[in-house]
Amino acid sequence: MLRIEDLWVSYGHVQALSGVSLEVKRGSIVSIIGSNGAGKSTLLNTISGLVKQERGKIFLWDGTGPDTAKLLPREPYRVVKLGVVQVPEGRQVFAGLTVRENLMAGAYTVNDAGRVRRNLDRMFEMYPILKERARQQAGTLSGGEQQMLAICRGLMAEPKVLLLDEPSLGLAPIIVKGVFDTVRRIRDEGITVVLVEQNANQALAIADYAYVLENGRVVLEGAGRSLLCDPAVKDAYLGGA
Ligand code: ATP
Repeated sequence: MLRIEDLWVSYGHVQALSGVSLEVKRGSIVSIIGSNGAGKSTLLNTISGLVKQERGKIFLWDGTGPDTAKLLPREPYRVVKLGVVQVPEGRQVFAGLTVRENLMAGAYTVNDAGRVRRNLDRMFEMYPILKERARQQAGTLSGGEQQMLAICRGLMAEPKVLLLDEPSLGLAPIIVKGVFDTVRRIRDEGITVVLVEQNANQALAIADYAYVLENGRVVLEGAGRSLLCDPAVKDAYLGGA
């Protein structure tokens, strides 16, 4: 679905990504783990077109035929239009807008009012709490509810690929479980998920495939479950567990 080839990104003299290559298969969850500053957010922001690469290519492929892979455009709006949608780190809901308005804001690339309404109903059906709070300002929701809202706002754009940046950050363990259940559900609905997480344990447990980033480079990759058992991963990211 996504193929990234030899991606290089820098911020001035800080080299954030140094030749990252990876592949995301259609309908899978691919987790990217790594410590603070490894380049995880930069990777997602580059896919979204929010950060420009110095070098390297990002292809989107819908899997219908070998010749259908195309270069992802570099303008964020066009990336969303093609179905690659990011849910940013730290939730970043519009605190002063209502829950409903936040969801509608996510649908800005969908031109069909009927489809937008159906998508909105689906979100309310999936997350009744958002329906209950539809007229409430998003800033009054709990952290977990705001994360659900941020994810649903992303879903309103009808993504083929959802890019999730640290959705578990700052949430209580019981809420984190709900977030990961949601991620699995999204994948089961056929949406491809790229999940960036510092919570390596859970991110690997739900990943079909995973990459470990260190200092802007992929240092390890494999099936989520096999990385969970990898001694190097255990030592560095799972607290030696
Ligand atoms: P975190 O989990 O803390 O977000 P990360 O793995 O997502 O970490 P990035 O945020 O992608 O890492 O950062 C990669 C490197 O690029 C770091 O050295 C960081 O300090 C640097 N960096 C990120 N954004 C900028 C920026 N806007 N200007 C300058 N340097 C930046």
